[in-house]
Amino acid sequence: MKRELGIARCGLACCLCSENTRCNGCNSGECPDKDWCENRKCSIKKGLANCFLCEEDCSKGLLSKIKPYGFTVFAKRYGVETLLDCLERNEKNGVVYHREEIYGDYDDFTGLEELIEFIKSGEK
Ligand code: SF4
Ligand code: SF4
Repeated sequence: MKRELGIARCGLACCLCSENTRCNGCNSGECPDKDWCENRKCSIKKGLANCFLCEEDCSKGLLSKIKPYGFTVFAKRYGVETLLDCLERNEKNGVVYHREEIYGDYDDFTGLEELIEFIKSGEK
């Protein structure tokens, strides 16, 4: 895990992303999706560094997907450092962020609270 890359504006975990060997995170300008990312455009327009700092309960762009939405809600509730602590511990315990292309163990949820519990405990 490259903890220093943190969490992208949209809630994806740059620190664990399989692209992070050639992309240095959301604000590096190297993200292949930067030109169409609605969350990037909107948060920059609002003067916010990240969607988890926004007061709106939003499902625009990547936030329509359970993983970035769940990570964003988690960071809003408990803080981004707690999220990074949990992701780091879970990775050490074998939880895989990108197992097949962009899908991994955090994508396998339909309910927000179940995903939040999984982030907290690392156990399904
Ligand atoms: S591709 Fe996107 S999610 Fe992955 S490291 Fe780059 S900015 Fe972060
Ligand atoms: S409105 Fe949505 S996309 Fe825009 S900054 Fe807030 S959470 Fe992000």
